[in-house]
Amino acid sequence: MERLIKGFERFRSGYFQANRELFSTLATEGQRPRFLIIGCSDSRVDPGLIFDTGPGEMFVIRNVANLVPPFETGGTYHGTSAAIEFAVRSLEVEHVAVLGHAGCGGVRALLEESAVSDSDFIRPWMDIARTARDRALALTLSASQPIEAARVMAEHETVAISLANLMTFPWLRQRVVDGRLALHGLYFDVENGDLFRLNGISNTFEKV
Ligand SMILES: [Zn+2]
Repeated sequence: MERLIKGFERFRSGYFQANRELFSTLATEGQRPRFLIIGCSDSRVDPGLIFDTGPGEMFVIRNVANLVPPFETGGTYHGTSAAIEFAVRSLEVEHVAVLGHAGCGGVRALLEESAVSDSDFIRPWMDIARTARDRALALTLSASQPIEAARVMAEHETVAISLANLMTFPWLRQRVVDGRLALHGLYFDVENGDLFRLNGISNTFEKV
C-alpha cells in the first residue's frame, strides 16, 4: 500500500493542486463526459494514459477482454450493462469506443481452455466471445497461419462482437440510428504503442 499512498501524495500536491478549479467545477456541476470507453482490465492498457485525457472527459468501463454482453435483463448482476446504461441514457455520451489490445489474457484463456481450467468466472464470461474462438481456431486449422495470427484475429473479433452486442441495447441502437451516438472500434498494440481503428466498411483495423 505504501506505493499507492506515496503516489496519492504526489497527485495531491501536484496534479490536483494544478487543476483545483477543474476538480471544483466537476464536483459542483457534475460530470459530462463525451466518451464512453469500454476497455480491458489489463494493467498495461490504461485509457486515460493512452488518450491523454483528464478527469471528466471519459466514462470508462474495464472488464476482462473488453466485452459487452448481449442485451438481456434476466439474472441480476449486470455490471457492464448497468454502466453502459448510465453512460448512454443518463450522461448521454456522444461516442462509445471499444478498445481491444494485443496480448490479451482473456483472449488467451479463450483460445487455450487449459489456461482457465479451474476458473469460476472467466470461462463463462469469455463465452460472450465464443464465435471469436471458433473463427480463430478455424483459421489455424485451415490455413498455414501461425498461432499469433489467430490470437490477433480473436483480439480484433472481441471488439467486433462488443460493437455488435452494443447494438442489441434498444435505447443505444435508437441513438445510433438518430445520429446522436457514434460507435468506434479500437485496438492498442502494447509493444509498439500503435493504435488501430476499425474501418466499418472494409471490416479491417487501420493504423491511426
Ligand atoms: Zn485484455
